[in-house]
Amino acid sequence: MAYSVEPVGYVRSCFKEKFAIPRQPQLAPAARGVLELVSPFDQGEAVAGLEQVSHVWLLFLFHQALEEKPRLKVRPPRLGGNTSMGVFATRATHRPNGIGQSVVKLEGVEAGRLLLSGIDLLDGTPVIDIKPYVPYADSVAGAVNHMASAPPAPITVQWSDSALQQAHAHALRLAEPLVELIEQCLAQDPRPAYQVPPVERVYGVGFWDVQVRWHYPQLDTIRVLEVVREA
Ligand code: SAM
Repeated sequence: MAYSVEPVGYVRSCFKEKFAIPRQPQLAPAARGVLELVSPFDQGEAVAGLEQVSHVWLLFLFHQALEEKPRLKVRPPRLGGNTSMGVFATRATHRPNGIGQSVVKLEGVEAGRLLLSGIDLLDGTPVIDIKPYVPYADSVAGAVNHMASAPPAPITVQWSDSALQQAHAHALRLAEPLVELIEQCLAQDPRPAYQVPPVERVYGVGFWDVQVRWHYPQLDTIRVLEVVREA
């Protein structure tokens, strides 16, 4: 029997590409976005009561990682990208039915729009359901996951003077916590674990409408070089 799902809305996110998105929600509290609901869920009735809730579960489609042939094993970046695990033991994006789930903070509820923070979702992500987080049921005392027992250790993020000034100026223009967003995302060390970057190699990513460029003066340190408006 075939089932089909229709999105209830789409996320407008600070993240314009997959690179440098944190691997789970809550790792970058400054990562903000708006879930724009589509008809008929864009009416106030559909979200009535949500203002009593601090966090929601979003069920969504990994729309930029959908594959015809399901994988049984995946190589999670968290394990360095060279250890293979059963797909159901991981939160990999390449998975049967391409469904992701994230607990995100609800910053505001409006008819047709949910304001979110702490997201790990790409711009344009289709959301297929929204459920309130229920602390007594969704937080399990004593739960263990020996593969991911703690958040990844953050690395040091330094700024060049000019990049910090640029970031502050764009933060004001965008009315977004851009400096914090950059620091929180880069502290997750977005580079693939197997890459040993030479000092001269420059990495870049788009957040909102700006490009952030950085390099690694040492393996455990990122230095932000510039934050410029995308051409
Ligand atoms: N919290 C979710 C979960 O556990 O199902 C997502 C975990 S997954 C490891 C997180 C990664 O998904 C992010 O780092 C980002 O690169 C990727 N991602 C986010 N939205 C996506 C989308 N719409 N399509 C494809 N990949 C996406």
